[in-house]
Amino acid sequence: MADSNNPKNEKETRRDFIRDIVAEDCKTGKWQGRVHTRFPPEPNGYLHIGHAKSICLNFGIAADFNGKCNLRFDDTNPEKEEQEYVDSIIEDVKWLGWDWEDRLYFASDYFDQMYEWAVDLVKKGKAFVCDLTADEVTQYRGTLTQPGKNSPYRDRGIEENLDLFTRMKNGEFPDGSKTLRAKIDMAHANLNMRDPIMYRILHAGHHRTGDKWCIYPTYDWAHGLEDSIEQITHSICTLEFENHRPLYDWYLDALGIYHPRQIEFARLNLTYTVMSKRKLLKLVQDGFVKGWNDPRMPTLSGMRRRGYSPEAIRSFCAIIGVNKFNSTIDMALLEHCLREDLNKTSHRVMAVLKPLKVVVDNYPQGQVEQLDAINNPEDPSAGTRKVPFGRELYIEQDDFMENPPAKFYRLSPGREVRLRYAYFIKCVNAVKDSSGNIVQLHCTYDPATKGGDAPDGRKVKSTIHWLSAPNALSAEVRLYNNLFTKENPDDAPEGKDFTTNLNPKSLEVLTNCFVEPTLKDVKLLSRYQFERLGYFCVDSDSTKDKLVFNRTVTLRDEWAKIQKQQTQR
Ligand code: ATP
Ligand code: MG
Repeated sequence: MADSNNPKNEKETRRDFIRDIVAEDCKTGKWQGRVHTRFPPEPNGYLHIGHAKSICLNFGIAADFNGKCNLRFDDTNPEKEEQEYVDSIIEDVKWLGWDWEDRLYFASDYFDQMYEWAVDLVKKGKAFVCDLTADEVTQYRGTLTQPGKNSPYRDRGIEENLDLFTRMKNGEFPDGSKTLRAKIDMAHANLNMRDPIMYRILHAGHHRTGDKWCIYPTYDWAHGLEDSIEQITHSICTLEFENHRPLYDWYLDALGIYHPRQIEFARLNLTYTVMSKRKLLKLVQDGFVKGWNDPRMPTLSGMRRRGYSPEAIRSFCAIIGVNKFNSTIDMALLEHCLREDLNKTSHRVMAVLKPLKVVVDNYPQGQVEQLDAINNPEDPSAGTRKVPFGRELYIEQDDFMENPPAKFYRLSPGREVRLRYAYFIKCVNAVKDSSGNIVQLHCTYDPATKGGDAPDGRKVKSTIHWLSAPNALSAEVRLYNNLFTKENPDDAPEGKDFTTNLNPKSLEVLTNCFVEPTLKDVKLLSRYQFERLGYFCVDSDSTKDKLVFNRTVTLRDEWAKIQKQQTQR
């Protein structure tokens, strides 16, 4: 069987403006025909669906143009970075199906080279040590409408700068007392060009370099150098870096080193979702969710646990494409892509989430029949399986109504329905407890309808799922809804934050569920369709003695509905 989780089999045929640039560069031989991209996460959180867009773009372009893509940790900020994040990012990129081969890099491995280049700029008179405090630097910077003022330390001599910068590096000065700044133009229209900071003093341990450094490079200074060292051709980043590009270019030009091209695209936003790592961290730290991999989180680890397949996420990223305008994608589109994939790949099984006991009065006591059930109507090669049928069954409470309204075609007193893969049954009466709740149904079955059709041609209006009660396995099922009640979770009243829009019903736990005996030895994270209920995935909490399933997504496709409405307009 072909490896379905190999994205290289999904060559992107549609074009976007970045692929157009890359194709043109290949044609003109700008980079000698080379295409080399990178995905540069900062290891200060888990990857989310927005990162998936960037991963599929960078690795996807490399795959489309026979190029290479590096995985590079942009670990220049010691305070928030941790090995746990590094490990999770590696796992998630792999899971998405991408391969960086032997090109796993850490920006912190380049600290020595970056330092040497900074010394170069000092020697060229293009950088200086500044004693202004952070507040003063801000005051001196000016505004969009007003030019900034030169720092009083701007005209220090090269020798003095070299001496001070060396001593900064040697740890002679306290945090925040000095910075190294590029000498560009305090009146520049672009604020990023007003003598930006290259190094700050931070006596903090780093997850990889330990206590070796007490000065750390800023993002703008470091990023182009990382790209240059790795001989990246196209440095793809999100739109907020568009007005940092002149600085990216300035540093590389000032040093006269290999100079990649920075290209910006719009980041992914999704309805009912927050994507900033700061906010996701808050959800985790304040206990609003049960960890980074909570199935309600938009993190790749949460989505994996929820039951998302890498194929579905890649297909979503291909469909949304890339452009230059910020917009918000409807969550329904992501779920549509998920259903399309799960429909093709998931085995169907029967499960009853809210059980109602049925006794088939005319079925022989103690008899058990094994009936054939189709594993996946979308995939004949998936074959069939046997499901047991007997005198005592479970059906869904929702599939019975004592006094059915019009258009309720399922079971009710005197009404006949089909049990999927089994027989027609007819309800004789409902048994109630002392408070009037229906606790059990008595039904009869028609032996002539085995397999689902009546020889006399009579029809039923409804087919429902069921389980043989003595054979069913008990299970816990976790139903998920959107984590936020508002399309834009940041739309909060004055003085409140996005957490006020958390959905109190984002998780519903059902503990009295049953599933088919065929699920006895399920593997963690395997995915199923529970007939008529949705797609479900075995949760990592599941054990041999206690099965736990997550509802990945319901069967109802909101996106298909939206599209239908649009074409009808
Ligand atoms: P945050 O601002 O929440 O901390 P970030 O953008 O700083 O997130 P990084 O780890 O630096 O996170 O991101 C790694 C790469 O993923 C970057 O190239 C970044 O542009 C890209 N990326 C991050 N979020 C998104 C998004 N929502 N859509 C597309 N790309 C994204
Ligand atoms: Mg970042």
